[in-house]
Formats: sequence, structure tokens, C-alpha cells
Amino acid sequence: MAARRRRVWDEDVTDETPVCSAKGCRAAAVWVLAWNNPKLHTPERRKTWLACEEHREHLSQFLGVRGFLKDVVTLDAWDAAQGS
Ligand SMILES: [Zn+2]
Repeated sequence: MAARRRRVWDEDVTDETPVCSAKGCRAAAVWVLAWNNPKLHTPERRKTWLACEEHREHLSQFLGVRGFLKDVVTLDAWDAAQGS
């Protein structure tokens, strides 16, 4: 049976008004941080965090020091790249 635990990293990016993924922050997201944990994900898989201007650097560093961060793009650019 799968363990049930809160996994902040698995939040879906489906809200109509995307907000920052930083804990307690409800600012509108401007940036998308694309990341991959090689211990959990296949290399082509991309998980995403959203970030406002204020938290982009903080969240980027969090992922960066773990070697997870792959890309940081604006939300507009990310949406365009998804082709939807
Ligand atoms: Zn924020």
C-alpha cells in the first residue's frame, strides 16, 4: 500500500489563478521552476513549482543545492511551451 504523506512537490498546476508554491505565500505566480529528482523521477520527467518574484530566488536555491533544478522560465513562456 502506498504511503500517504503530504507531498508539497506533487501539487498540480491546474489552478485558474496560479499562486506561488512558497509556504504561506498566495502571491500570483510569475515563474515556473522545472525540476527533477533523479532518485524519484525518470530523467525526462519535470515537476514544477510556481514562484512569485519574491520567492523565485529562494525556491531556486532550495532546488539548486539539491541538484534538482532544471529550468526557470516565466509562467507565460511555460504555458506557451506546453502547447495548450
Ligand atoms: Zn511567493
